[in-house]
Amino acid sequence: MKSLWNDAEAAKFAGPLGLRVYSSRLLGRDKSLVLHGGGNTSVKLDENNLFGEKEEVLYVKGSGSDLAAIEPADFAPVPLDYIRRLASLPALSDPQMVNELATHSLRAGAPAPSVETLLHAILPHKYVDHTHADAVLSVSNSPDALKRVRDIYGDKVVVIPYIMAGFDLAAYCSREFPKQKTRNTVGMVLLSHGVVSFAADARESYERMIELVSMAKRYLEAKKAWNVGLPSPAAPAFRREDAARIRSEVSRAAGFPLLGRCNDSPRFVGFSRHADVSRISQGGPATPDHVIWTKPLPMLGRNVEDFSLKYRKYFDRNSIQAKEAKTMLDPAPRVALDPDLGLMAFGRNATDAGIVEDIYEHTIDVILRAEALGGWKPLEDRHTFDIEYWDLEQAKLKKAGSPLAFAGEVAVVTGAASGIGKACAEALLRRGAAVVGLDRNPAIETLWKRPDYLGLICDLTDFSQIDTSIGKTIRHFGGVDMLILNAGIFPASQAVQDIASDMWQRAMKVNVEANLLVMQACHALLKLAPCGGRIVVIGSKNVPAPGPGAAAYSASKAAMNQLARVTALEWGKDGIRINSIHPNAVYDTALWTDELLASRARAYGLSVEQYKKNNLLKTEVTSRDVAELAAEMCGPLFAKTTAAQVPVDGGNERVV
Ligand SMILES: [Zn+2]
Repeated sequence: MKSLWNDAEAAKFAGPLGLRVYSSRLLGRDKSLVLHGGGNTSVKLDENNLFGEKEEVLYVKGSGSDLAAIEPADFAPVPLDYIRRLASLPALSDPQMVNELATHSLRAGAPAPSVETLLHAILPHKYVDHTHADAVLSVSNSPDALKRVRDIYGDKVVVIPYIMAGFDLAAYCSREFPKQKTRNTVGMVLLSHGVVSFAADARESYERMIELVSMAKRYLEAKKAWNVGLPSPAAPAFRREDAARIRSEVSRAAGFPLLGRCNDSPRFVGFSRHADVSRISQGGPATPDHVIWTKPLPMLGRNVEDFSLKYRKYFDRNSIQAKEAKTMLDPAPRVALDPDLGLMAFGRNATDAGIVEDIYEHTIDVILRAEALGGWKPLEDRHTFDIEYWDLEQAKLKKAGSPLAFAGEVAVVTGAASGIGKACAEALLRRGAAVVGLDRNPAIETLWKRPDYLGLICDLTDFSQIDTSIGKTIRHFGGVDMLILNAGIFPASQAVQDIASDMWQRAMKVNVEANLLVMQACHALLKLAPCGGRIVVIGSKNVPAPGPGAAAYSASKAAMNQLARVTALEWGKDGIRINSIHPNAVYDTALWTDELLASRARAYGLSVEQYKKNNLLKTEVTSRDVAELAAEMCGPLFAKTTAAQVPVDGGNERVV
């Protein structure tokens, strides 16, 4: 491992917290050191208070922030002396500790200080860095861990047995640290938890961390336990329905929909097929912190019911030992290991599922290296339980507001690169859905850069392209719950006697057949949607009220309308509902340029403003209006409605 410190880069970080921010980010850059909110750092600064008195202030990472992207404001300032006194109390409950930390923050609006704040306070050094480095976890979760740690580090580190983070750990360290520390001490190993380094300056503390982790790495290399290969079987053909079924059953067990991210890389398939997978995967997480994301164990295979049963037993077994009553979390897995699918990672949103996947990838490294060292020896599950059911975590549950309407659900929107399609994608994202946008326009790929959006170039008249896109959808998010059929063309105006056959066929192909193909590709998946499948068809006013010169368009939209009605008849038994929207005069789309609008308005003897509002309500209909209705049609308001046709046109005399 190399130090990433760069003087030129460091120079850009000004202010007293500057280098603390810089070296924290350096730690955060390396996922083998810290993952997603894991680890924490601090610095002790001398400051003057308003009375001109000198005060030592501990700036410690706020709970939940990510080291990789940390900002000065993400550090919480607390008075060092007071926090040290807390650590010297004979006892302090977690809620009391959290209360003291919150009420002694020196900046209104600062984040809640890390639960490891007391540990940072009792260490005498100005800079303290704490990570959950993979290499150290492999050593400290193996047989004779204590002896190995001593062999590696000698008196360079103080060694602390596993104690849950918070007051108990800090109090223990404050007694043990002075006893064990020597002139050579540069860090501390917290067995089965992580590693701490410290120094008088930011660079030295950071580089000591790198050195401590490198020493563990070199030890593993010397024991031939660093690069642990796995048989890399060719991934079997991906079976999207299998993945969607697992996600559906996991969601049912959870009691709410979850996204499922599939990864059949050789590493995950190889691990899932490891001869000892049923032992090594069922021990526990690499560090107890991970349990919040991954649950204590992954599901091996596909028996969700069996997993839930085991989870309930784990809860019952451990909760009776707890001091206060615990509320059981949902008993659904967050990680599934399957010899054919590899890994499936579940989360309430795409970010969470990605975190679960990342954590498990590192867990595999930690497990295999510990195995190569003589055997993976994770903590007993009562310790994992203590973290998963910590008062503080339980309190968060009570505080958590209700999730967004479509959290954990997946929507596919066709023709999503612009206009109504893009507005639909936005409306669904706003409601918490993961969205897959399909479009021929390459701009679809980069419309948004966010984990809950996947843009795919797709010609909807080509079934193989649709098929590939839906396959990618399942790999990414695990299912299809909602389908917005929006893509369509509006052929140039032609009188009936002049319609060219190819133009007619093209209208039918894009406006009818493409939708049929998309629905066919999604049928089995919509059937598996945890909250029932939903389809919304963006139709047209031309269905109930066709216009002269638009025969191909009107006929194709009417054919689609009829297809939707038959689909409602056939797929109702599968719990799939399909409803249509008939918009009219939506002028904020790519079809309408300012010139075109002006010329159409002139043709009717109206101003552009009058032309836009030429309806009964004298109101302008926008893409967003249509999209909001489309999204609502997927929600609970329309839960008992199928085959409905709703106009969004400001009121049209011919439709009324
Ligand atoms: Zn920690």
